[in-house]
Amino acid sequence: RAKSAGGNRYELADAEADARAITRHGLTTALPAALDRGEFFIEYQPLVHLGDGSVHGAEALVRWLHPQHGVLGPDRFIPLAEHTGLIVPLGRWVLEQSVRQAREWQERHSDAGPLRINVNLSPCQLTHPGLVSDTVDILERIGLEPNSLCLEVTESALIGADDDLLKPLRRLAEMGVDIALDDFGTGYSNLANLRRLPVSILKLDRSFTQGMQQFPADPVDLKIVEGIVSLAHSLDLAVTVEGVETGAQAEQLRLLGCDTAQGWYYARPGPPDRLHDLALVDATG
Ligand code: C2E
Ligand code: MG
Ligand code: MG
Ligand code: MG
Repeated sequence: RAKSAGGNRYELADAEADARAITRHGLTTALPAALDRGEFFIEYQPLVHLGDGSVHGAEALVRWLHPQHGVLGPDRFIPLAEHTGLIVPLGRWVLEQSVRQAREWQERHSDAGPLRINVNLSPCQLTHPGLVSDTVDILERIGLEPNSLCLEVTESALIGADDDLLKPLRRLAEMGVDIALDDFGTGYSNLANLRRLPVSILKLDRSFTQGMQQFPADPVDLKIVEGIVSLAHSLDLAVTVEGVETGAQAEQLRLLGCDTAQGWYYARPGPPDRLHDLALVDATG
């Protein structure tokens, strides 16, 4: 009996794997037309100063409004877009939309200090020869200062990166674009290697924030974050924390010296006007 039940479980698992593969295939073939048809949209999640909770910018997070499957998160389609190369035009579209949005926020309330925009880059975009020229072109055409843009690259994408890979990032950094190391702490990178990278911001992975759920947090977790923050600051890097869901987490991360934060505690990703409203509340009191 146990054996046949086990057998059924496997069949079920196989069927589910098949269904997933079929969906993946369908999504992959639908991707190029989806870009042409305008089925992608961007949500913006505020980035706040941990000191006073004021909004200083937002991260652009892409979504796909699929005609049959509804709203799909990036984890469902970014890997497919990377596999097929569509990530290059899709990423360029996200960058252009986001830069345009940041420019609009800045125009709508110039008194609030220039709101910044963070955009994720996939490893395929890093190796694409048009990265620097496309970025410069977009910034100039739309009229956004390079220092209002931050490009996020995951730690794992830069592990063992050679100079060829770093060169475009270095060029962008020299122009004033901030480079953030995303999901930091998950990639087992050599900490000494940080000095070589043209990054100015560490984004501490959500797994660290999760360790801060209790107050006081686990002493070992506290020590680890404390160490990362002091290392980052001694290298002149700012520290952003992601995945802040509670006030207790925010408070502990603030006490540990983290600079900025992002998470559901402040706001979920949402439409562009929401950020405008949040920043405006800040600016007017
Ligand atoms: P990421 O860059 O690390 O973005 C943070 C993710 O954490 C987002 O998931 C965000 O919605 C989620 N998040 C934010 N605050 C909280 C919180 O308090 N609790 C929890 N549990 N989650 C929180 P999302 O939007 O599903 O994006 C997932 C990943 O997809 C991103 O991770 C990023 O690596 C990638 N991605 C998103 N947009 C783009 C894009 O335009 N281009 C590329 N290449 N990758 C993108
Ligand atoms: Mg990111
Ligand atoms: Mg991240
Ligand atoms: Mg992450």
